[in-house]
Amino acid sequence: MPNAFSYACRDCEGMEDCPASVVAATKAEVWKLVELHAQLAHGEDPTEWDQGTRDYIATLITPVTV
Ligand SMILES: [Zn+2]
Repeated sequence: MPNAFSYACRDCEGMEDCPASVVAATKAEVWKLVELHAQLAHGEDPTEWDQGTRDYIATLITPVTV
C-alpha cells in the first residue's frame, strides 16, 4: 500500500534536466517542498502560480510506497 507521495521535478514540462525529487507522507507536505524547491532552484514565485499550473503539478504528485 502506498504510504507517501512523491514529486519528481524532471516529470514537469521543461524541467527534464532537474534532478530534484521530494517524498513526504502527505500531499500538503509535498506541495510545501515543491514550492520551496521551485523558489530556490528555479527562482519561481509559487504565490503567482495560477490554477492551471497547480492542477498540472497536482497530476505529477503520485502515491508511492517507501
Ligand atoms: Zn526542479
